[in-house]
Formats: sequence, structure tokens, C-alpha cells
Amino acid sequence: MIDDDRPVLDNHLHLDPDNHRGIDAVRDFAHMGGTHLLVINKPSWHLGVEAASGDDFRPVFDRTIEIVADASAELDGRAWPVLGVHPGLISRLVDKRGYTPEAARDIMQAGIDVAAEYVDRGDALALKSGRPHYDVDDAVWEASNAVMRRAFEHGADLDCAVQLHAEASEEMTEVTDWAAAVGLPAHRVVKHYAGGRLAGPIPSVMCEKDRLERAADRGEPFLMETDYIDDPDRPGAVLGPKTVPRRVSWLLENGHEEAVRNAHVETPALVYDIDTEATLTANDR
Ligand SMILES: [Zn+2]
Repeated sequence: MIDDDRPVLDNHLHLDPDNHRGIDAVRDFAHMGGTHLLVINKPSWHLGVEAASGDDFRPVFDRTIEIVADASAELDGRAWPVLGVHPGLISRLVDKRGYTPEAARDIMQAGIDVAAEYVDRGDALALKSGRPHYDVDDAVWEASNAVMRRAFEHGADLDCAVQLHAEASEEMTEVTDWAAAVGLPAHRVVKHYAGGRLAGPIPSVMCEKDRLERAADRGEPFLMETDYIDDPDRPGAVLGPKTVPRRVSWLLENGHEEAVRNAHVETPALVYDIDTEATLTANDR
């Protein structure tokens, strides 16, 4: 079992109380021993927003911040928002809405600029960006990389982390070199949905046992996530909200005490400058 004073962080999930389980998913997480959450805004078009400007992302970000406050109220630790633009938006803009890749890039960069305002005000912890995980043509790829670089510039400026959604890979040092070139160190770049081993960004490892074992044995900084999407139409698409605490128990049972501390205390401090132990309050619930 997980002791009461141990932080347990899910580094990447989505909550959608307007359409699905929302805060009930947070209760499930907390009941199993989960304490801290990084809540990523859902892709804008999932919320019915067909963005044509940076300002169009504001309702998506504002709703995410409200949800995070409700989630924090259920946790012995707390939740933080991570805001940005899902890289899959470029295909929607180009293929479905007729924008050129350059025009799509401009809309997405403007969305990243707005997300950076929220970080600057202290309303969000980090930025979310990336590039398509599927094959796209060169112009779309270039435009996507330009959006990601914009996020790195803001990350450097604000000294905040950037979570990436990107292609499956174990070698992404080119990307962290781009970040470093504008002043964002590699340890502020996180690849979400990662395997257990990755060169370049910090891996946010999907909570499958083989991936976790690889990350634990490797001994390098890593985070744990479910990418729970809280979508009634895709119930089996991702891991459920109880998975991170369950896998923490499993790691502890298998002697991976150090890896658990790595993923839930040390790496969160390294990447986000958050203190998951100090933010753990003894709630009398
Ligand atoms: Zn996600």
C-alpha cells in the first residue's frame, strides 16, 4: 500500500466534467493514493472550438483552470494546469478547414502565445506543444516544428517546462538541441506518452509495466502518466485514472523505492520546480 505522506503524481491527463467523468475520475485517483495531477487542456476542437486566432483558445484555457481548482479540492496534494495547442490541430486546420500550413502555424503560434500569458500570470504551470505523431508532408512538418520552437522560446523566457506530444521515438536530442539553442535546457522539455527510455527530453512514461520497469532500471529522471482523456467515445483508448497509484504500489512491492521517489519527487522538482512533498497536506477527509 501507499503511505499517506507519499506524493503520487500523474504527469498528464485530461478532465472533461462537461462531457464525461470529470471530478469523479479525480476521486478515483485520490482514493487509490494519488495526490498530484498535471491537467492538460483537451484539444480545442474536442470542446467545439474551431480556433482561428490566439484569443479563441482562451475559453479552453479558462475552463481548464476552473476544472483544476475543483480537482485540487479533492486531493491531499494539488493539481496544476498545463496549457497549449495540440499538434494534431494542424491537420484539422489544413485538411479540413483549408488553411495553408503557414496560416495554420500562425494560428497555433498565437495560441501558444496566449498560453504563455497564463504561465506568466502564474495561472498555469507549463506549456504544451509538439508535432504530429503520424506522417505529414514537409510543409506541415516544418510548420509544426516552428510552433514547437515558439513554445521553447516562451519556455526559456518564462523559465517553465514544455510538454511535447510527438512521434514515438527513443532519440529526440535534435529537439532538445533546438530548445537549448533558444535558452531552454533539456530538463525543461518533457515528452508525454513516452517509453521507458529516451535520449533528449525527460520521458513521461505511459504506465505499462514493461515501460515502467525499463525507466526504473535506467535510473534517469522520468515521470509517470496515464494520458486519461475522459472521453465517453473512447473508453478503452487510454489508461484509467487509478493507474498511476496502482503502478506506484506495484513498483514499491517490487523494490523500486528509488524509482518511485525519482518519478514523484525528484523529477517533478527538476522539471517544474514543484515540491510535491511540501504541497502534501494532511486533509482530514
Ligand atoms: Zn493527452
